[in-house]
Amino acid sequence: MGTFARIEVFGKDSKLSRKAANDAFSEIKRIEDLLSRYDPESQLSQINENAGKTPVIVDREVLSLVKEAVEINRKSQGSFDITIAPIVKLWGFYQKDRKIPAAEEIKEALAKAGCDKIVINEKESTVLLQDGMELDLGGIGKGYAVDKAVDILRENKIDCALVNIGGNLKTLGLPKKGFWNIGIKDPLKKDKTMTTVKIHQTAVSTSGSYENYFEKDGKRYSHIIDPKTGLPADKILAVTVLCDSAMYADALSTSVFVLGKDKSADLLKDYGARAIIIDKDGGLDYTD
Ligand code: ADP
Ligand code: MG
Repeated sequence: MGTFARIEVFGKDSKLSRKAANDAFSEIKRIEDLLSRYDPESQLSQINENAGKTPVIVDREVLSLVKEAVEINRKSQGSFDITIAPIVKLWGFYQKDRKIPAAEEIKEALAKAGCDKIVINEKESTVLLQDGMELDLGGIGKGYAVDKAVDILRENKIDCALVNIGGNLKTLGLPKKGFWNIGIKDPLKKDKTMTTVKIHQTAVSTSGSYENYFEKDGKRYSHIIDPKTGLPADKILAVTVLCDSAMYADALSTSVFVLGKDKSADLLKDYGARAIIIDKDGGLDYTD
């Protein structure tokens, strides 16, 4: 998933805790093998390779995730879009060869994108893309994996744990002090914590322009693309979304990063989520 995964288990029996954590790591690996766009064997890569050719039979799990992503696309006014991959590629974020593409290239790539062009066959469990299309579940897959890892810990009878994949985290149970302290980084000074939130059981996901970006002529270009323009989103510096589901928290943080605060209220409410937003000047803002 191109990032770190950390599991903290708090239990009395270190052997059982370790086994549970190992099972959860295996689950994360299983999901990565299904969804990675870097692994040519993954089901997602199969979908991408067969764009414009044949419908690809995928596991129910993959089908559900694609459907969830399409639903979030609809609810987020198109700001969350798993068909954005060809544009992300133009900006060089996959190859780590980041550059500003020509406006004409962006326009061409945008014309091919759009979740409405994904053909999902529920009965056959297939996904078909049009020629030139490509899917990227990078904005939702880490959160999904976090949810599944926590399920595995719970199945292992663990009652207190924290799972974190690249800033998408979820808690299980409560530590002795009765709450979890989650630090939110200052997007302008990475080593500084801007604020902390005390949470009970919930998932937390942060999207920001400070982990994966490049700068040119004093302007910062982030890896999250506004599907309306094909340009890196720049309404806010960072957003942290709190929600029961890590999958939704992940996708919603990407969406809110594109939409900005004012346009996100209904979307967040739809999923019972809340957000902490760091605006362009570095000011803190909270949803209701
Ligand atoms: P962050 O960690 O900053 O939230 P994520 O890793 O969750 O970022 O999301 C970035 C991933 O989503 C990348 O894989 C990127 O290719 C993809 N992506 C970029 N823009 C969008 C978008 N508008 N909608 C959905 N996915 C996007
Ligand atoms: Mg995200």
